[in-house]
Amino acid sequence: MLAKRMRESFVAETKRIIHNRCRCKKCGTVLESKSQHDFVSCPCGVFRDGGHDYIRGGWPTGNYEDWVEDLDVFEEVESR
Ligand SMILES: [Zn+2]
Repeated sequence: MLAKRMRESFVAETKRIIHNRCRCKKCGTVLESKSQHDFVSCPCGVFRDGGHDYIRGGWPTGNYEDWVEDLDVFEEVESR
């Protein structure tokens, strides 16, 4: 696996993940993780994981913003 850097995005408790999704800025591949253990990656080493439970993203080197365009979709839910 090429990805050397990883981060988990903060998702507020009042938000539900509808689409855990991003686009690799280098090759243009859209990566969508559809379930918790659905690990999707492109040849560059950008990846997404976590499905609807959490958002984990990886990239090979340097800054996240240089590699990844976030395309996540959230839904507001009632706080309990
Ligand atoms: Zn790529």
